[in-house]
Amino acid sequence: MLFRLSIVGRPNVGKSTLFNRLVGKKLAIVNNLAGVTRDIKEAEAKLNNKKYIVIDTAGLEDAKKDSLQNRMSSLSIMAMSSAHACIFVVDSRVGITGADYTYAALVRRKAKNVIFVANKAEGAAAQPGIYEASALGLGNPIAVSAEHGIGIDQLNEKIQDLMNFNNAFENSLNNKDGIFEDDSLIENTLSDTKVLNPKETNIHISVIGRPNSGKSTLINRI
Ligand code: GDP
Repeated sequence: MLFRLSIVGRPNVGKSTLFNRLVGKKLAIVNNLAGVTRDIKEAEAKLNNKKYIVIDTAGLEDAKKDSLQNRMSSLSIMAMSSAHACIFVVDSRVGITGADYTYAALVRRKAKNVIFVANKAEGAAAQPGIYEASALGLGNPIAVSAEHGIGIDQLNEKIQDLMNFNNAFENSLNNKDGIFEDDSLIENTLSDTKVLNPKETNIHISVIGRPNSGKSTLINRI
C-alpha cells in the first residue's frame, strides 16, 4: 500500500498551495470525492523516486450539525485518521487562533503521525507566528512557504523519515520477526483499548517500548 499523507488545518492556511507544491503540476489528480462543493483531492507525489499519495482536505471548520461544512469536516477527519500521517498547517502570518487549538487537539487524537507546519513563513512578519505556534503542544513547526518553495526540503526530510518508518513497520509485520508473531494480538489489543474521555480525565501518557529498554526506570525518574 502506498504511503498516504493528508493535509489538514483551518481554511485559508495554504493547504491547497502546499498540496500543489508536493504533487507538482505534471501529476494528475487520481481521485476526487465528488458530491460536495469543495472536494477532497488525492494525487500521487514522488519523493526520492518513491511514490506516495497526498490528500488535500477541505479543511477543519466550525460548523453546525448537518451542514455542508460539517460533512466536509467529517470527511477531512476521516481522511486524516485513515492516512499514515498528516500535515497540520497553521498560518504564521495570522498567528494561532482558537480554532487552531481545537484542531491541534483533534489532530493529536485522530492522526497516526503529525507533521506540524507553519506556512506563509517567508519574511520577518512571519516570525512571531512561528514562535507562537509552539504553544499548540505539537513541538516546533517546520517553517514553510508553500507559495515560495521555502522549507520544502526540511518538510520532505520529515515525510521521508515517516515513509521509512512505515516501511520498516510493515516489513516487521510481514517478516514475523519475533515481535508480532500473532497479528491478532495487536488487533485485539487495539480494539480493547479504552478511549479516555478528555473531559473526565487528566492527561494520560503511556510509556511503551521493547522489554529492557528502561521504561520502568524512566517512569520512576518522572
Ligand atoms: P487552503 O484553504 O488552506 O487550501 O488555502 P489555499 O492554498 O487556498 O491558500 C489560501 C491563500 O493563502 C491563497 O491566497 C494563497 O495564495 C495564500 N498562500 C498559500 N501559501 C502561501 C505562502 O506560503 N505565503 C503567502 N504569503 N501566502 C500563501
